[in-house]
Amino acid sequence: GDENNLSIPGYVETEQLAEAFNRMLAHMKVLDDSRQEFVSNVSHELKTPITSMKVLADSLLMQEDAPVELYKEFMSDIAQEIDRESQIISDLLSLVKLDKKASDLNIAPININEMLESILKRLRPIAAQRNIELVFESFRPVTAEIDEVKLSLAFSNLVENAIKYNIDNGWVHVSLNADHKYFYVKVSDSGMGIPEESVEHIFERFYRVDKSRSREIGGTGLGLAITRSAILMHRGAIKVYSKENEGTTFTVRVPLNYIA
Ligand code: ADP
Repeated sequence: GDENNLSIPGYVETEQLAEAFNRMLAHMKVLDDSRQEFVSNVSHELKTPITSMKVLADSLLMQEDAPVELYKEFMSDIAQEIDRESQIISDLLSLVKLDKKASDLNIAPININEMLESILKRLRPIAAQRNIELVFESFRPVTAEIDEVKLSLAFSNLVENAIKYNIDNGWVHVSLNADHKYFYVKVSDSGMGIPEESVEHIFERFYRVDKSRSREIGGTGLGLAITRSAILMHRGAIKVYSKENEGTTFTVRVPLNYIA
């Protein structure tokens, strides 16, 4: 009733206050749910390689007089699982570091042309193994105020994916352009593409398209989450266009001047 409501002009009605409070609680619940989901995903991902290692070790120990070849084979499988576990842990650490406040950004003027060229130089031998052509095209020299470590990681992930999810003898094009406000990086590939229904999920932590197709191609499902987070910290944006069996293009926009 009216007697329960404050209706002093200029003050918020108690009903409105209660509504705002409930909205806030609902929002906090969403945050808490997504944190719980993240923790449960992390535990699952970390357990998988350990379960495999346990099975491999147990089955070796069960065999009496197993030949040395079998030991070698199983040990090499175990070593692979250890590498996978290390990769997940190192990706998780990158994510956690990025999740800290934006004030942790280490901003300096960086030559973006040089930054991209050095990323491509590092990845060129990996592309060459599958005869994938890696091309860099720059429309102008660009200097921007960024955290070089974080954005290098973001762009490396995009180019690494463009190579990983490509076909043998394919191509990857990286281009750089700028206007008075932003610089733009485009990473296009001739690869397998992303199914339409998966596109909206690829930036989610641990999401991988079609587990069976991804299993042979190493990865943790954290790369694009890291990339997106680093770009958003710079108040930039990232978009993806993809067509299955044709290829994928990621476009990134980052302000030239850092806005705190
Ligand atoms: P991953 O460690 O699996 O590569 P990412 O977060 O980097 O994790 O990518 C998530 C998923 O998005 C990948 O597993 C892959 O299925 C898909 N994906 C990412 N980049 C590309 C690309 N350039 N072409 C095709 N699929 C891609």
